[in-house]
Amino acid sequence: MFTDDLTIEAPKLHGAAATPTPPPGAAADWTIPQHWERFTSEEHRVWDLLFARQQELLAGRAVRAFHEGLDVLRLSRPGIPDLDELNERLFARTGWTVVSVPGLVPDDVFFRHLSQRRFPAGNFIRSASQLDYLEEPDVFHDVFGHVPLLAQPAVADFMQALGEEGLKALRRGALDRLSRLYWYTVEFGLAREDGDLKIYGAGILSSFGESRFSLESPDPHRPAFDIGRVLRTRYRSDAFQQSYFVVESFDELLDSILETDLGALYDSLADEPDLCPSRA
Ligand code: FE
Repeated sequence: MFTDDLTIEAPKLHGAAATPTPPPGAAADWTIPQHWERFTSEEHRVWDLLFARQQELLAGRAVRAFHEGLDVLRLSRPGIPDLDELNERLFARTGWTVVSVPGLVPDDVFFRHLSQRRFPAGNFIRSASQLDYLEEPDVFHDVFGHVPLLAQPAVADFMQALGEEGLKALRRGALDRLSRLYWYTVEFGLAREDGDLKIYGAGILSSFGESRFSLESPDPHRPAFDIGRVLRTRYRSDAFQQSYFVVESFDELLDSILETDLGALYDSLADEPDLCPSRA
């Protein structure tokens, strides 16, 4: 669904599916029962491996709110979180819940869930032999990567606003613009904390390699977050990013979407050339 010429069709970190109708067994909004009891001990073991590896790697690299939010994932049992239990904690904090979906869902379904403070999570996990492989977002990316920050009030409100703006962008044919905002914040955003760069984007938080690359490699650009510039900057989904936009606070992020007339901004950017991420 993304029209960026640099965007390769996989892996995607949200939205877009081949068929517009839900698969058998899924509700009209594409949700399915989690059936936590059906995950195998091997699948729980993969979660535990990934969790331990990322938690260690992210100490000192992720924003404080991520580490604070991890508490919502510290559940009574190890393994893939039971969403009923997780949702009790998450809902009490910010009114968000996580719902299970079979895999990628159409963009309108995805953004409608966000607009109603529901985060769709793929109800499967990668295999132990492919810990770093992610063709489609699985429960580790979706839950470990996204849920801790959904416990942060400004990010929680920003995500809901993105859902509402996503639906509007679909109606205007501007989803490519809005997707860039999602991509460079929720998935691949960096934030400055006490003068240091920290990770808050879920695409980075759930990636062993990119957690270090995004902060420590001399190669990528790390421009200050600017919503107009983000909307003009292409991205690629088949490689580490060439640009990571840096916010000074989550309030800056939330204010940027609440105080910007995105429709007017799309119109004003219509004749501006796209920016290449390697030169952003
Ligand atoms: Fe994601």
